[in-house]
Amino acid sequence: MGEHRASEALVARAGRVIPGGVNSPVRSFRSVGGRPYVVARGAGPWVWDVDGNRLLDFVQSYGASLLGHAHPAVVSAVREAAAKGTTFGAPTEGEVLLAEAIVARVPGCEQVRLVSSGTEAAMSAVRVARGFTGRDRVVKFAGCYHGHSDGLLAGGGSGVATLGLPDSAGVPAGAVADTVVVPFNVVPELDERVACVVVEPVAANMGLVAPAEGFLAGLRSACDAVGALLLFDEVITGFRLGEGGAAAHTGVRPDLWCFGKVIGGGLPVGAFAGRSDVLSVLAPLGPVYQAGTLSGNPLATAAGLAVLGEAGPDAYRDLSDRVARFGAALEAVLDAALEEAGVTDPTGRRLRASVPVVGPLLGISFVPDGSGGVRDFDGAAASAATGLYGRLFSALLDRGVALAPGPYEVAFPSLAHGPAELDLALETAAAAAGAAFAG
Ligand SMILES: *Cc1c(COP(=O)(O)O)cnc(C)c1O
Repeated sequence: MGEHRASEALVARAGRVIPGGVNSPVRSFRSVGGRPYVVARGAGPWVWDVDGNRLLDFVQSYGASLLGHAHPAVVSAVREAAAKGTTFGAPTEGEVLLAEAIVARVPGCEQVRLVSSGTEAAMSAVRVARGFTGRDRVVKFAGCYHGHSDGLLAGGGSGVATLGLPDSAGVPAGAVADTVVVPFNVVPELDERVACVVVEPVAANMGLVAPAEGFLAGLRSACDAVGALLLFDEVITGFRLGEGGAAAHTGVRPDLWCFGKVIGGGLPVGAFAGRSDVLSVLAPLGPVYQAGTLSGNPLATAAGLAVLGEAGPDAYRDLSDRVARFGAALEAVLDAALEEAGVTDPTGRRLRASVPVVGPLLGISFVPDGSGGVRDFDGAAASAATGLYGRLFSALLDRGVALAPGPYEVAFPSLAHGPAELDLALETAAAAAGAAFAG
């Protein structure tokens, strides 16, 4: 990157008034090093920093942006909605339309309640599961992230793992006493104390880890056998793997979902959803309380509807095809550079690039030769420990391509990342990888 003075000045000012200079720790450059950039604006696949440098952006707000930045349909929807008033505390048509749009796309999903973040969605869905079953225990998988509520932070992958935190301080033992953390991709033994099993059906907060053959179907049967509910956290996969998210993609139907990111079109939104008999425990119908002043906010529902309106089956298919080709080529390019540089792990085994792709989601990890890729959090942690992601990250950023600044994050090519941009990313990666892995 070129000039950096304006970013540097803002980063310094931010550090004085915002803890760590960031409003979400995943934005910090601590794990990758180098000079953080401050964004001035975005358009499609690009962002410009406050010094005027243009970056090809694969962060895309960690998946909140599916159409790319400042898509005209989203901008005009938000502008029109804002002119009519930003929040009322009474129902609006947009909430009904967005809930209908979600129910229409996700097979088995009958009702939706809108909230303002994925964290709130997951926290509330778990409360519903507990209220519905009358049980306390929640089973989650190491490396899956379900937002930062006390009971779900354990083994949370992504941000906590990037900072090397085993778990968060400030969470009382009592808050996690009923959270059981088990390895991803292994169907756990359940019993009748379990209210729900919560899972990212395609794990995207420990790099990208696809569900092993039979894993999700195994969870479905294990839950059914003991009367536990299955909760898919589709905050990333929802409306990204395709119109019906992971439930449609994998054919396994949960009882409850949580959504976020894509359905807000870049505004603060989350949703939890599921079978209507399960959701009928919610107030005002039932005894499980949950509320929100800004829930179903008119700007957010307008933006979300605009996104869903632009993302039809063809758009998803084309994007997934492009990303599959890009991922295979990227893996080859990174692998060639590793081979050329003779990069090995501490035991002397060659390290290889692994670039898994599921739908339009893409992960970048580094695994010992012959391992076949990352299957769980231990594998993701081993990949992160190679330090290679950080080196690649910095070399790419120097050349104008932005990945998320942490080895547990995935890349989010948007519908605006066309063949030309992916070709550019590939050429840049070839040059960057040579520099990153040499020596
Ligand atoms: C981002 C994320 C969340 C939390 O959503 P926020 O809007 O950041 O609170 C929950 N689950 C998954 C799978 C996520 O990726």
